Amino acid sequence: GGRAPRPNHRQDRAAEETSALPPLPVGGLPPFANEPDTDPALPANQAWARAAIARGTAPGWLDEQSIPPRVDVGDVDALVERARAAALDWSARPAGERAAILYRAADLIARRRGHLVAVAAAEAGKSVAQSDPEISEAIDFARYYAHRALDLDAVTGATFTPDRVVVVTPPWNFPIAIPAGGTFAALAAGAAVIHKPSAPTPHCSAAVLEALWDAGVPRDVCQGVQPDEGPAGRRLISHPDVDRVILTGASDTAALFQSWRADLRINAETSGKNALVVTPSADRDLAISDLVHSAFGHAGQKCSAASLGILVGSVYDSRRFRRQLVDAAASMVVGWPTDMSATVGPLTEEPSDKLRRALTTLEPGESWLLEPRMLDETGRLWSPGVKDGVAPGSFFHLTECFGPVLGLMRAADLDEALRLQNGTDFGLTAGLHSLDPREVRTWLDRIDAGNVYVNRPITGAIVRRQSFGGWKRSSVGLGSKAGGPNYLMMLGEWSDSPISG
Ligand code: GLU
Repeated sequence: GGRAPRPNHRQDRAAEETSALPPLPVGGLPPFANEPDTDPALPANQAWARAAIARGTAPGWLDEQSIPPRVDVGDVDALVERARAAALDWSARPAGERAAILYRAADLIARRRGHLVAVAAAEAGKSVAQSDPEISEAIDFARYYAHRALDLDAVTGATFTPDRVVVVTPPWNFPIAIPAGGTFAALAAGAAVIHKPSAPTPHCSAAVLEALWDAGVPRDVCQGVQPDEGPAGRRLISHPDVDRVILTGASDTAALFQSWRADLRINAETSGKNALVVTPSADRDLAISDLVHSAFGHAGQKCSAASLGILVGSVYDSRRFRRQLVDAAASMVVGWPTDMSATVGPLTEEPSDKLRRALTTLEPGESWLLEPRMLDETGRLWSPGVKDGVAPGSFFHLTECFGPVLGLMRAADLDEALRLQNGTDFGLTAGLHSLDPREVRTWLDRIDAGNVYVNRPITGAIVRRQSFGGWKRSSVGLGSKAGGPNYLMMLGEWSDSPISG
């Protein structure tokens, strides 16, 4: 569809919050348009955001919100059977009916934006600035996949049979958008979903599932459950009646799942080790701003984050460039979501072993241009770090660490920069800052990554405009990218239909 005409009205998020159930769209879906983020310049929205964060972070509030039930290994067969049975009716409905319900769920998420901001702050430590765009993204996924469900029915010459039972296992770093993306996709295709939240963020998942149920998705068509990490999780993933697993998480998790079941059908978006290259022709001020934004947004807890800055020749050698970069990183305000001016928030959990190593140790040849510091006793609040002299093939060059550390590497020329950038096992996001069109062309020809960005930050892909997915070890079985036109087409089987004429 084209872009919906939008009235030029001023947003008032508080006024949009109503508990009324939005109507099902009648006479077809409205054309797709990306949902606008909250305008933070409007005083009414600032007050709305402060109130949401205060509500969410009030002692005890989170505990009153619901979470999916815990299940153990003995419960798994029954819940898979419920999904299998429920899928028959769901997939038999016309795509337009499923799409209308998913559209209504999107409208509900929009009306509950403040609630979602509150949950994400309380549970994941997300600032409004970080959670607000992912709520827009969740809405976009819902509406976009609703439209794509209609395409499945419209294909001529082939018939689509959706998977019957799909397990969706999202991560905790985008605890609203990614749980919504996988779940809405599978439901739109016509499958029943068993949704397993990431362990740190069950409340965020629950808020998404509640919107689906309230919009009219039957409970058995979309179940949320928390299997224990041991036998129940394994039983669920390897259950013979589970047709597919949609995973976003570490590549080790994808490998573990595959080790549990050899014929597992899995579509996984996994780890990244992403670099942004800056050549001497770049707009250096813009490069610094984009590097810092890409490295330290949500404290670097994004698969898409820039973890390496590969500086070509005179850029690396410029003390001025490096001083400005360090000044930009050092001037970021680090704080909890209640601090509305903070631009670097807390880690969702205490650092993993890999991240602790990245934050607290230097490998041979490395030095701190800006040493990260633990700012309070929770162990979760760290100031950004910039390390220099990351060696090719070293731990920090090759390992995803998922936190607020940016490492710098020197490349003699664009050739060497590409070798370093392509020299990891991963290929999720990649960036180039260059104002030389020949360099841009060379780089685009040779970069091995699913999402490539020129002269802009490397995080924040937007549904339909930038479908998202990786190459190499950044994806497993990912035929098409999330938020793109073909994602739903992989969630089932195609067979030729008889062609007449
Ligand atoms: N889609 C997100 C982005 O473009 C990243 C998702 C992730 O970190 O898994 O920033």
